[in-house]
Amino acid sequence: MKKTRISREGTVGLPPGIHWTPVKEALLKIKNCLKPKPLEKVISTADAENYFLAETVTALRDNPPMTNSAVDGYAFLYPKNLDSKLIEILPEVVTPGKKLNVTVPTGKAVKIFTGAPIPHGTDSVILSEDVPEGKIRFELPKGLKKGSNTRKAGEDKKRSDLLFTKGRKLRSQDLALLSSTGVSKVKVYRSLNVGVLSTGDELVDTEQLADEHQIFDSNRPMLISKLKSWGYNVVDLGIVKDSMDELKSKIKINQSKVDLVVTTGGASSGDRDCVSHLLRSEGDLIVWRVAMKPGRPFAMGYINNLPIYALPGNPVAAMTCSLIFLKPSLDFLAGGDFKEPSFFHIKSNFQKEKKLGRTEFLRAKINKSGMVEIFGSEGSGRVSSLSWSDGLVRLDNSDTNIKVGSLVKFLPYELF
Ligand code: AMP
Ligand code: MG
Repeated sequence: MKKTRISREGTVGLPPGIHWTPVKEALLKIKNCLKPKPLEKVISTADAENYFLAETVTALRDNPPMTNSAVDGYAFLYPKNLDSKLIEILPEVVTPGKKLNVTVPTGKAVKIFTGAPIPHGTDSVILSEDVPEGKIRFELPKGLKKGSNTRKAGEDKKRSDLLFTKGRKLRSQDLALLSSTGVSKVKVYRSLNVGVLSTGDELVDTEQLADEHQIFDSNRPMLISKLKSWGYNVVDLGIVKDSMDELKSKIKINQSKVDLVVTTGGASSGDRDCVSHLLRSEGDLIVWRVAMKPGRPFAMGYINNLPIYALPGNPVAAMTCSLIFLKPSLDFLAGGDFKEPSFFHIKSNFQKEKKLGRTEFLRAKINKSGMVEIFGSEGSGRVSSLSWSDGLVRLDNSDTNIKVGSLVKFLPYELF
């Protein structure tokens, strides 16, 4: 049996004697313990990027509202079989943004500019480049079809068409669609306030002078900017020492200002790992110690009903856990779905023997030949690997022998 073979040969990539929760199971446990209670508010469509819709939205009018010209050219009525194919150009000009007051007789054309409504009596437009300069008539070119170079009223969206369903996270292009159909305000869910906290006796802010034994806090700037780019409000809770009391009081003082807290560092099982200690001793621990690399010490739980995401201190692990566990949780709490990221399949240009039984996330990018390559070192303290890479490769529990040319799962950071 596969399971026996793994343990006998010692190929499981995790320390024995501990229950390492598989990533999928950890995600399910987290999802099941979250109780979204999003509040609604109405905001301007222009300000709605990254908010989750609290309503289903339909188009308030057709887009485009009238059939209009897709090009600069001449508008005319497409001749019927017996009509003359020679069309005479009238001196009138139709421009965008003006009410229509021209009716064009059969066999005649008027000059029209892109976006101007097609005048009464016409249904087709010939490109101005296809009518020689200074000509007062043109012959219908063979290839030109009825309706050519026009955009039909409502061809993009019709009034009352469904635009988005409740729970949709709005992107900038969605704001364009809403605006084009006259939706100027939308009902959305209030964004979340996320507390971000670094823990570690060795940490100092980059503004401070650091002694040799101290290191700069790189997790907080990374997580704060990531959270903001996802559309969440950040409450910067600074650095706390490896002290249960300090951590407890920091959380207590800020409890009312935040919807959840993200910590980094102190998530393992050592004596000085105060975040996991606090969650285990005084909190409600939901997940701890995950069968993954990097990010093995990750913990999630509640302290006084406040969700706490305890990410490991190593920056690569902190980033990985924020993408894998935090992002779907935030979106769920903010009114969206708890969506696991969908990785693409891309050919690998690397070779790797992977241990069974754990999920691995590798810093990766796509090279010039369209294959995915990984960073030279897997050390989770290698901050430079995050900057070097554009996303993560995910190797699942059962993946072992990755060869050059094998299909692997890759996802750019922005698409998590
Ligand atoms: P910990 O998870 O607290 O055991 O920390 C693991 C490693 O990550 C240690 O080498 C820490 O010094 C380092 N580390 C912890 N927090 C940070 C941080 N905010 N920025 C950079 N490195 C950190
Ligand atoms: Mg520490």
